[in-house]
Amino acid sequence: MTFIADEILRNREQRHDFIRPFVDQGHVALSLKANIPGADKRIFVAYVVVGYYEKLLADIGYAEKFRMEGADGPSIVYILKDIDASQLKAKMVHLEENASYGRLVDLDVHAEHLKSMNRLTPRKCLICGKDAFDCSRNQTHPINEVLAKVNEIALEDSVKLIVNAIDQAMAYELNLDPKFGLVTPFSMGSHTDMDYHTMLAAKQAITPYFAMMFRSGWETHSLSLLFKKAREIGLQAEEAMHQATGGVNCYKGLIFNLGLFCAATGFAFQKKRPMDDLFEIIKNMTSPLIHDFGKNIDTDGLKLYQETGIGGARMEAMRGMPTVQKISTTLNDFKDATLTKALVEAIVLSEDTVLAKRAKNPQTMAMVKAMFKTLDVHDKDQLEKMTSWCIAQSLSFGGAADILVSAIFYRLIDNLWHFLK
Ligand SMILES: [Zn+2]
Repeated sequence: MTFIADEILRNREQRHDFIRPFVDQGHVALSLKANIPGADKRIFVAYVVVGYYEKLLADIGYAEKFRMEGADGPSIVYILKDIDASQLKAKMVHLEENASYGRLVDLDVHAEHLKSMNRLTPRKCLICGKDAFDCSRNQTHPINEVLAKVNEIALEDSVKLIVNAIDQAMAYELNLDPKFGLVTPFSMGSHTDMDYHTMLAAKQAITPYFAMMFRSGWETHSLSLLFKKAREIGLQAEEAMHQATGGVNCYKGLIFNLGLFCAATGFAFQKKRPMDDLFEIIKNMTSPLIHDFGKNIDTDGLKLYQETGIGGARMEAMRGMPTVQKISTTLNDFKDATLTKALVEAIVLSEDTVLAKRAKNPQTMAMVKAMFKTLDVHDKDQLEKMTSWCIAQSLSFGGAADILVSAIFYRLIDNLWHFLK
């Protein structure tokens, strides 16, 4: 125990020794680290917190940035030049008090004339709300209790960010118009049983279940167990969707597709794995699905696979979501033309069972894909004409739309956290 405490102190001194010469030269240093109690400063929550603030501080205008990792946990030191240290300090205190994970982050400003500058209000203890320094010095609370609280705060703040990303991703897709027979705010598309309001009701009903899948990923240590849990939560989500829509299936494919991303994200956090590992995690997690293809299960998707070899959402997941990965690179912004371009790519690249069913034969499906390949996404007139044609042919692209939502979600969360590798 003493040994670990020594290591932490030595690591802290090393960081200060590193910072001092910059401050002596008149620069300002900002150190970012997680505020984790106890001997183990390298719990995964520390990486979630530091990874989030690394993204949040990306445009702070630093001259240099140094990543560090030792017994004191992951940390980043920013060197800033020609900056008002007091203003920076005020900004950092504001983040600590208001931003996500604020209670779990230490944003310390080091500057020549600022050496003795303290916070106006001392930090509050996570458990009792009194002065944190006193509780820490007197060891008022058992360490397990404090760590459980740290985990709870980190999880709840993460869930809020994830739910926000889900909300945005689904809204970007749903609000896009025109959209080739898919439901938009202005059109039921090729559907007779659902409109924009049905979709909104379904969206609201299923969102809490995506959050549950993320929580499962955060808490479950084995991928096979996580997949089992996620499938159970998925069934509950379908039930909730049907209740909200009077039995209309708006988002069954999305519950599967985005649900896997939510579960995988929680799991990636727990295992300190970077966001671009999500595809590999999903591939590993869904490997048991191979048994579905051998079985004579009576779902439309599997029947279609047996007849045509089109694997749909299951196969996409088992391959590690290659179409999501591919079109996510198109999504450098979320403007209409970019979203449409990504959707068109998903239509062309994916094995969409919704399209396959509606196109009725492989020739029509190939022809539709060929038409989409030559579409100019900046030409609103072309998009309107294509949409009218799709509606006249009763075509729709639910599978591709699910892939678009997941790709937007992936881009959003990839923008929120960065992981030290
Ligand atoms: Zn306390």
